[in-house]
Amino acid sequence: MSLTKEQVLKQYYGYNAFRPLQSDIIDWVLYGQDAMVLMPTGGGKSLCFQIPALMMQGLTLVISPLIALMHDQVQALKANGIAAEYVNSSLTTQEQSSIERQCRNGELKLLYISPEKLFTQGYLEWVVSLNISLFAIDESHCVSTWGHDFRPEYTKLNVLKKALPNVPMIALTATADKVTRKDILAQLGIPDAKVFISSFDRPNLSLAVQAGRNRVKIIQNFIAEHPRQCGIIYCLSRKNTESVAEALQKVGINAKCYHAGMPANERSTVQNQFIQDDIQVIVATIAFGMGIDKSNVRWVIHYSMPSNVESFYQEIGRAGRDGLKSDTLLFYSYNDLLVRKDMIATSELPAEMKEVQVAKVERMKQYAEAEICRRRILLSYFNEEVTTDCGNCDVCKNPPIRFDATLIAQKALSAIARTGENIAMSMLIDILRGANNRRIIEHKYHEIKTFGAGKELKADEWADYLQQMLNSGVMDIAYDEAHAYKLNKASWAILKEGRKVQLVRYRPFEEKQAEREANIPKEKSKKEVIKDALFERLRVLRKQIADDRNIPPFVVFSDATLSDMAQKKPLTQLEIMNVSGVGEQKYRQYGEAFLLEIRNFLKTIPKGSHATGIDTHHYTFQLYKEGFSVEEIAEQRNLNPVTIFSHLAKLYEDGENIDISAFITQAEYEQIMGAAKVMNVKKGDPVKPLFEAMDAKYEYHKIRIALLMAEKAK
Ligand code: ADP
Ligand code: ZN
Repeated sequence: MSLTKEQVLKQYYGYNAFRPLQSDIIDWVLYGQDAMVLMPTGGGKSLCFQIPALMMQGLTLVISPLIALMHDQVQALKANGIAAEYVNSSLTTQEQSSIERQCRNGELKLLYISPEKLFTQGYLEWVVSLNISLFAIDESHCVSTWGHDFRPEYTKLNVLKKALPNVPMIALTATADKVTRKDILAQLGIPDAKVFISSFDRPNLSLAVQAGRNRVKIIQNFIAEHPRQCGIIYCLSRKNTESVAEALQKVGINAKCYHAGMPANERSTVQNQFIQDDIQVIVATIAFGMGIDKSNVRWVIHYSMPSNVESFYQEIGRAGRDGLKSDTLLFYSYNDLLVRKDMIATSELPAEMKEVQVAKVERMKQYAEAEICRRRILLSYFNEEVTTDCGNCDVCKNPPIRFDATLIAQKALSAIARTGENIAMSMLIDILRGANNRRIIEHKYHEIKTFGAGKELKADEWADYLQQMLNSGVMDIAYDEAHAYKLNKASWAILKEGRKVQLVRYRPFEEKQAEREANIPKEKSKKEVIKDALFERLRVLRKQIADDRNIPPFVVFSDATLSDMAQKKPLTQLEIMNVSGVGEQKYRQYGEAFLLEIRNFLKTIPKGSHATGIDTHHYTFQLYKEGFSVEEIAEQRNLNPVTIFSHLAKLYEDGENIDISAFITQAEYEQIMGAAKVMNVKKGDPVKPLFEAMDAKYEYHKIRIALLMAEKAK
């Protein structure tokens, strides 16, 4: 009998429900129809072709552009007990012919292949001679010159549909605007395919932007707030990656850098160590991350601003693929923006492309400078309408407070004017605060009218306001003149005509930090403490298993699965298989080890603690059912055997299947009941008189059991 798609989801993946759209897409493909799927990274695209592949007769051919990606997906499929392989240039001839034999014998459900391989001599003919049930084109934006990752071989893929017009095709991508989308379908020869677009929102990713000052210190604090959690820091230059990594290592953070200038073997070592959870933090250029499926990246920081929103979204999208809460942080300074613009201006691009690029940088700036919910800005970029604030970005959490800063602006602008527009930020701040240093005396700046006019503000405060003034066009900056401030039309309107200036009230770093901490509930409940402690033990076990088997920890179980497990604290096969992400194969391989770890953990919890969230009778019953003796259960649970007897008696009374007669011999039963009859003691009465009348020969729990049996026998 064939399984329903829900049963396949449960059996192979251990998931209890489909995400929005997955179910519709699977049905559509099973009808034999063509489809295009647009979902964000981590949205769950893979299941949309993997589940039909499992439910259809023949082989599903998956076209995938990256060797690393193929390897990861096939590894994950195999871990779930699904027959899948890949062919690409990395295989030996022997490996390849073994896989080809399996294909011919119908032993595989999925075959991953790179377009390059597909179009080598004679390969295509061989592939279409197989019993193919479905074509899946992963990362299908590679087919379009409009997309950001064009691959020439992808344009030849239309031969697939030509060769086998009745085999359905599903194209998947995380990035495609309308033009690209149409182009993809045309190029693949499926112009009428139904397009499924899921929301691009990733509500589990928090969004935040901080001014680009003290970046390293802020990052160090950030990592301290994310103990043992893996993350990526993106930098613009190779030099940056090295210096940031070094600064983190100095304070004992397990960080490594990664950039295209490193030897290939060094790069792949670093990447593998990160995937294996052996490195906590990667400091990388954008060369890192493409084709990495690691689902437990818990945070992403941008040390500098990316060049456009697509790249930014894709990069932060590498966090939280498992759906668990993850954090993102972007550093932003006006200087970063100008660096970006400069890179475009000096590039080889044709003029109209430069214009497009500048417009894209401007959209990134809007995000960075946003004073409304940042998620609204992101999603509107992807043409998605949002009607409510997200509550999970820094603007939503701490709305900016604006005030009339005209006087502040006038003081600064006047000082700039009086010094001949040739001073940069730190000198300006010194003048405003009336500092007495040599350079000031040298230039006689202490004689100008605004000297010391801004004493009431701290240096950091001034830096923040000057940055804001620059960002909002109140003045200009000349990077080719040692970053000297320049006055513009707006500056003069403020100075001469009293035009108003609004700025956002400065909040010192410590204050922001305190606010952030206030947002984190200080006192975790006992239940949460126990859950976290168990999660930690399960994580360690996962790492051991992963190392033993030489697979990444997240392939053993995702963080989401460990978290659900730590919450549910399963004690039996049935219970652990109810944890999200524990399918049949995973249970067979790791189920017992994790159950044992949970039990061992529970032993360490103080007696009678309700904080585990486990019903104590239920726990005893589970162990009883597994065949443990009363003494063994007591040992395991760190409880007195008498307590275990009382649990079992209660369970028996409640109608559970407990062989209570095993705890008492026939002779004992008769003796106790004989005395009970004489003294007229029944179940529920105090047993002390009976205990004493029989000279303490039988323990209380035995007397209770006898009375209980007698009652039941009635
Ligand atoms: P994409 O290819 O769109 O980036 P994946 O297919 O890799 O995303 O899915 C991301 C993560 O979500 C994976 O860990 C996957 O197992 C998980 N996932 C997918 N569908 C579900 C579901 N219905 N329930 C729970 N987890 C799911
Ligand atoms: Zn928001």
